[in-house]
This record gives sequence, structure tokens and C-alpha cells, in this order.
Amino acid sequence: MGETAKAVGGMNLAKEIHGDRQLIVRRLQKAGKKVLGYMGPSIPLEILSAVDIIPFRILGDMEEPISRADKAFPVTMCPCVRSCFDLACKGRYDFLDGYIGSHYCDAQEKASHIWKSMESFRFFPYLDMPHTTHPWAEKYFKSMLVAFGKQLESYQGRSLSVENLRQSIEWHNQQRRLVKELYELRKNDPPLISGTETLKVLIALSSVPVAEGNVLLREVLDEIKARTVLPAPKPARILVWGDAVDNVCLTEAMEEYVDLVMDDTGLGAGNYFAEVEATPDPFDGLAHRYLVQTNFPRTFRENRAGETGKARMSQLEDRFSYLEGYVKEWKVDGIVLLLVRFCDPYGFEVPALRAFLNEIGIPNIYLESDYSNAALPALKTRIQAFAEMIAKPRP
Ligand code: SF4
Repeated sequence: MGETAKAVGGMNLAKEIHGDRQLIVRRLQKAGKKVLGYMGPSIPLEILSAVDIIPFRILGDMEEPISRADKAFPVTMCPCVRSCFDLACKGRYDFLDGYIGSHYCDAQEKASHIWKSMESFRFFPYLDMPHTTHPWAEKYFKSMLVAFGKQLESYQGRSLSVENLRQSIEWHNQQRRLVKELYELRKNDPPLISGTETLKVLIALSSVPVAEGNVLLREVLDEIKARTVLPAPKPARILVWGDAVDNVCLTEAMEEYVDLVMDDTGLGAGNYFAEVEATPDPFDGLAHRYLVQTNFPRTFRENRAGETGKARMSQLEDRFSYLEGYVKEWKVDGIVLLLVRFCDPYGFEVPALRAFLNEIGIPNIYLESDYSNAALPALKTRIQAFAEMIAKPRP
């Protein structure tokens, strides 16, 4: 892909892959590579890359009305997962060689089992994942990762050596560092790259092998750093928080009124900022990174023993002070908490997060969508009003 990226420009190629997500994997499958689908940020992609399997993230589509999935799921279930499953029923993901189910959240867990029962693929591994960060939970998760690695080894007919796993961890860590570099460019006022362009790059990365993604990212970075002509800054710089911010119609709608300069989402910073530490047994580093170091509401973090009432603020700081850091570094004027309806893990987090943001004086707004483009007009109105409330004079 290096030559291809140079020929068409990194950003153009990222947009092309975003528009046709199978562009690269189609060619690689013809050359004999296997591609496994997964949902959510909990699957340790390093293990797949180490045995030369291409991970491909399953995403929903807000433009496509959900129809077939309603035969299997109640409409009171996460519409993002229902959309992914709906697309699967309609054949969008038939090109995959298999699917990795997981217990990222209850909705994804249920979808994994129902999808498996449809017998769409011969290979359908399932990765269990605890919801606490206790040492015993980490130990259990490590054992799950080791078993998952063995499943991939026998499926691929290729041994998973420690050297290959270390090399793969380094590739993925490189990708994390490159994505962080991309996010650094959003600190500029106005940002050198918009939230929508960033999302297109991230979606392209989730559709290609890690090594090719790294080549693409380097090309994108060179191109964006060379930008000299930038659009005028919008009235407010915004951080968006939520899980299912994975369709550009959402970011485009918001960027009519604000600059999206930072995020804390399952496809963005939350998915990339934590690296895997080097440990004598690489599975220890992987288990720690995916269960403990990443900071998603799907994982329960126990309060320090004995703390009540007066200590509430210190508990909130433990959980959310990293967001305060993002606000300062990216010069954020306000935070949009953007959820899909019926998302329990993020929904339960909202009262505590808003209490923390209000306490430290960061303007914020809570918005909910049904993961369809019918939600966009109302979203735009609320964002426009929020931008007017928090607007600051720009130089
Ligand atoms: S939006 Fe919420 S319920 Fe849906 S997949 Fe993400 S975490 Fe799970």
C-alpha cells in the first residue's frame, strides 16, 4: 500500500477506503489471507496480526434502516449493535472468513450468540472478558487470551510464537503512537484536521492490516502537517464522549457549528491512547492493556474502600481526571456526551461524569440518538444552541 498511498495521497486513500471498506481486504483475500470481523475495542488485535489474520471492525450504518435485525432483537436494545447485525443479515459482512464474538457489553454478547446460531461462518470464536479490574479478573482474562490464541493458531495452521506476538505488539503500538500524533494536530486553532477527516482515517485503519495502516498513517500525517490553508475557526472547540460515534454523518452534523478537536470514544482516543507494555510474557501486557489500562464504562472500577460523601469528588477525579487533561491540552470549550439510546454502560456513567464536569466548570450537554440519520436535525439544533452558549472569541 506504500506506493498506492504515495500515488493518490494518504488522505485521499483513507477517504477511498472509508467509502469502500473492503477495498484492500478483497485483494488480500484473493491472495489467500483470512479476514475476521469483530465489534468494539476489546479484541486484542495483536494476537490476530501475529498469526497473519486481518482484523476487520464491524460498524453499523446510520443511513440503512434497521429491518431484519428486529426479528432477533427487541427494539429496546442498543441500536448500534442492532444495525451491525442488520447489515450482517443483509449480507454486508458475508465476505468475512469468521467473526470473533465478545462480552464487551451485554448487547454485543447477545449479538455474538445470535449471530453464531445463524451459522454464517465456520469459524466463530468467542472471547469472554470480565467487567472488573481485580487482579483475579486480569488473571482470568489472560487465560482467556491464551485460549483465544490457541484457537487462532489451529484455525490458521500457524504457531503463535512469542517473537511474532512481540513484533505484532510493536506494530500496533506504532499505530497507537501515529494516531496520537494525528490527534496532536487537532490542538492547533483551527485544527489542522477536522473530526470528520479523523474519523475517516480511523475507519480506514479498522479496515486494513496493521502494517498497511501504519504506512497510510505516515502518509496522512505528512500531508496534514503540510497544510497551510485552513478553514476559519468555528465558535467553539468540542470534545465528544460516547461509544457509537462511528458514522461521519454524526461528526459532519456537529462540525457545521463547532470544531471537533478531541474525542473519548470506542473508535478514537479510547481505542488508541493506551499502549501495550513490554512484559516477559506478552499475554500479561495484553491482558493489562485491554482490561485495566483502557478506560471504558463497560469495566467497573471499584471505589477506594471506605470512601463516602465528602470523598465523592476524589472518586470522580480517579475516574474522569484524564478528561480534564484532554480539555486543557486540546483547549476544549465544552463536552458533548453523545449516546445511543439503550446503551447501559455509557448511560450509567452519565450522572457521575456530568457531576464531575459541572464541579470543575466544564460546559457539557447530554444528547441521545437512535442511531439513524432521522436523529440528525434535532442533534444539529442542540449543538448549534450549545455552541452559541459556550462560544468564545477566536483570534
Ligand atoms: S453503544 Fe453501548 S450498548 Fe451499544 S455496543 Fe457500545 S457500549 Fe454496547
